[in-house]
Amino acid sequence: TKVVVVGASHGGHQAILELLHRYDNLDITMFEAGDFVSFMSCGMELYLENSVTDVNDVRNFEPKQFTDQGVHVLNNHEVTKINADKKTVTVKDAKSGELADYDYDKLILSSGVTPNNLPIPGTDLENVALMRGYDWATTIKSKLEDSSVKNITIIGAGYIGIEAAEASRKAGKNVTLLDMLDRPLGAYLDSEMTDILNKHLEDKGINVVMGATIKSFDGDGAVKAVTTDKGTFDSDFVIQAAGVKPNTDWLKGIVNLTDRGFIETNEYLQTNLPDVYAVGDATLTYSIAAQAKMPIALATVARRQARYVTQHLFEKQPSVPFKGLVGSSALSVFDYHFATSGLNEASAKRNGVTVASSFYEDTLRPSYVPEGEDNPKVYVKILFDPQTHRLLGGGVLSTYDITAEGNVLALAIQNEMKVEDLAEADFFFQPGFDRQWSLMNLAAQHALGESK
Ligand code: FAD
Repeated sequence: TKVVVVGASHGGHQAILELLHRYDNLDITMFEAGDFVSFMSCGMELYLENSVTDVNDVRNFEPKQFTDQGVHVLNNHEVTKINADKKTVTVKDAKSGELADYDYDKLILSSGVTPNNLPIPGTDLENVALMRGYDWATTIKSKLEDSSVKNITIIGAGYIGIEAAEASRKAGKNVTLLDMLDRPLGAYLDSEMTDILNKHLEDKGINVVMGATIKSFDGDGAVKAVTTDKGTFDSDFVIQAAGVKPNTDWLKGIVNLTDRGFIETNEYLQTNLPDVYAVGDATLTYSIAAQAKMPIALATVARRQARYVTQHLFEKQPSVPFKGLVGSSALSVFDYHFATSGLNEASAKRNGVTVASSFYEDTLRPSYVPEGEDNPKVYVKILFDPQTHRLLGGGVLSTYDITAEGNVLALAIQNEMKVEDLAEADFFFQPGFDRQWSLMNLAAQHALGESK
């Protein structure tokens, strides 16, 4: 039985791990268009900040790990077409330029996304970068190490833009962070938390310019400035982190795509073609909180989808549909750490979900421990259905690492628990760690209007 996997990133990696674990005697082939196999963009900031020094270590797997087990891992091989009638894929060998067809019984697509250039003049200038994958990682790193690069401008204040800004600042650069939204991380966190983080970014010396329309990248050969409606910013290097495009042009007219180019899948993660499945950033995910499909571009999502697909790959009719996910993520912003799960006010609005919300502020430990480094401030935001009190989303933030509480919230949302359940959940108390009631208990009680 031949299984073909397209893309060697999180979705493809997990698919192969699962296939090898679950089944014997499969003939597995992975095609990867790029040269470097399985660069882990999630680990790029650690590389840029020198926590990991060899770029070749920033990867999900080395091909040998799988080729030793009989898997064919073909890099520099781009799949250009699916021939569903013959159950073959056409593949272009980037080195020789030759095309060849390969048979499949089952085909798993995890072709992911590519970051967008802004639709403005100057994106083709030298020293304008994107931030994903091996090649851009090494380019960005070389610019951070180049003392002639003084001013770096980051376009987009989402997760990736924030990582770029922090790494650039830590490398001693003058950093301007631009976004069209009115606050950094505005697509991920509500304003109570972004207010704190905006100030913190400024305290760390980043020039935070929000609500900006970016007009052009200017320069002669190489970029020299970024022009916006809020001023012109000197720039020796620009990193664009403002949106992505699914790698699905090659599937047009073959596999059903949404109008934005995402691969359409059913509740079994099957495409419209028999025995062709799709996972990862190139697809939409069913959000348990929104009860709708949406892009949730996370490695965690790709891996859970790949696990589901391989579990049910050889069932005539999959025994259970994919349950959906909540979408959980975390990030450090200099001295702060946050984690978030499910919906926020912006994504709830976008999906037409009515939410009630509560913002809770406290200290980590009981009040007899003086507030400060040993007893820092902690913040929790909870979103829930105003009628049923079902938990729909939220986040946690502190200078202390309370991100594990974000996973508590994720579990509660995924299991469709109510605010009342979280208010009463039996969590530990130990004053070295928390208060007489655990933080999530207190935040939920606060959401129920209880003040004690
Ligand atoms: P991708 O990672 O997009 O990879 C797709 C692969 O398929 C590519 O290697 C591509 O070359 C290949 N390919 C495409 N088309 C073809 C074709 N036709 N033939 C052959 N090969 C093809 N997520 C988290 O959960 N946590 C994090 O901390 C995190 N941090 C991130 C930091 C950065 C800077 C970035 C950029 C992303 C981060 N993400 C994080 C998101 C995460 O990287 C993605 O969600 C994840 O990589 C998606 O995996 P994927 O398999 O869908 O596709």
